[in-house]
Amino acid sequence: MRALAQATVDLGAIADNVRTIASVTGTGLMAVVKADGFGHGAVPVARAALRAGAGWLGVTSASEALTLRDAGITAPTLSWLHRADDDFGALIAVGVDVGLSTTSHLHAIAGAAHRLGVPASVQLKADTGLSRNGAGGDDWSELVGWARKYEMEGTVRVRGVWSHLADADVPGSPALPRQVATFEEALGIARGAGLDPELVHLANSAAALSAPATRFDLCRIGLALYGVDPFGATGPGEFGLRAAMTLRTTVVNVKRVPAGTGVSYGPEYVTSAPTTLALLPLGYADGLTRAAEGRAAVLLGGRRCPVVGRIAMDQCVVDAGDLPVSIGDPVVVFGPAAEIGTPDGPETRDQAAPTVTEWARWAGTNPNEILTGIGARVARDHFHEGAESS
Ligand SMILES: *Cc1c(COP(=O)(O)O)cnc(C)c1O
Repeated sequence: MRALAQATVDLGAIADNVRTIASVTGTGLMAVVKADGFGHGAVPVARAALRAGAGWLGVTSASEALTLRDAGITAPTLSWLHRADDDFGALIAVGVDVGLSTTSHLHAIAGAAHRLGVPASVQLKADTGLSRNGAGGDDWSELVGWARKYEMEGTVRVRGVWSHLADADVPGSPALPRQVATFEEALGIARGAGLDPELVHLANSAAALSAPATRFDLCRIGLALYGVDPFGATGPGEFGLRAAMTLRTTVVNVKRVPAGTGVSYGPEYVTSAPTTLALLPLGYADGLTRAAEGRAAVLLGGRRCPVVGRIAMDQCVVDAGDLPVSIGDPVVVFGPAAEIGTPDGPETRDQAAPTVTEWARWAGTNPNEILTGIGARVARDHFHEGAESS
């Protein structure tokens, strides 16, 4: 059975973005595939990124890391958010590096490594100003001290030291150089304690592209990998990133209505003139957030048509005006429309397709939230350079 909507992911765009970003940074890249690859499918994105030259994969949780290993992906992988009672043995056994921010986690992983008789590869996270995970001040000194002790015992190997930036996407942010300086200090303390990390990393997408002082050995790339400009450009932006995902569906009902017709739940929307309404089988359970009501539009019949009335859980209504619209017509919610693959191809190559960044603006959020909010009912279809595969 075909799904009501498809998120079509161009793995060629993922590969192009890896190459584009690497040519800017001149460093190794970690492809961040947390949250199912920002909704694009972690496993196919990981494979495409690795083939294009990314050396590392980054995920949040242990289970995300194990999903990659279960798919047969053996590339260096870092996970960075753990319960203190996570099954660290399972990560050590499949060679996943563990990002650590507390001595509680460090003691737990050293215990697991001791029981397995295999050293754990860990990467210590410093808090340089984000005040989320990571250790700062005395906690950092204590963390590196214990890590060195375990390293000498042979239970732990400290492969990396890293941190995360607060506002690298804000040009000229004074916080960024402060974070870099704090990071350098933390690195000095780690080295002073006898650690010799081979991988030092700080930059996310925005920093990697715009702040050379943050690049160190490796840049962790999330948003830009998926082709979304981290500085908020609605198109490819100055780095020429290629958006990987197109969210598409088809019209499932069409009706011509007179002026004064109420549309969807509630009193919010009444037609002001005779018009054609097209029903789309996509709603907020699929990721079309209600926060975008009153502003959102989709590409239908080569034109941008507004989403009108309330977005419901499973469906929404588009005002197609006087466009000749039929049941089954293709709709692009966002993304590059070029691959829509209809008989009237050139029509739908219209540059009017909204981008995920526009949807984010309409909803008052960031593109990350729109991408990761796409629901489980939406099929993920992957293709690479024209060849469909899933
Ligand atoms: C999500 C995440 C990234 C990727 O950030 P982008 O801004 O999307 O490139 C990098 N590092 C960490 C620790 C993250 O959690």
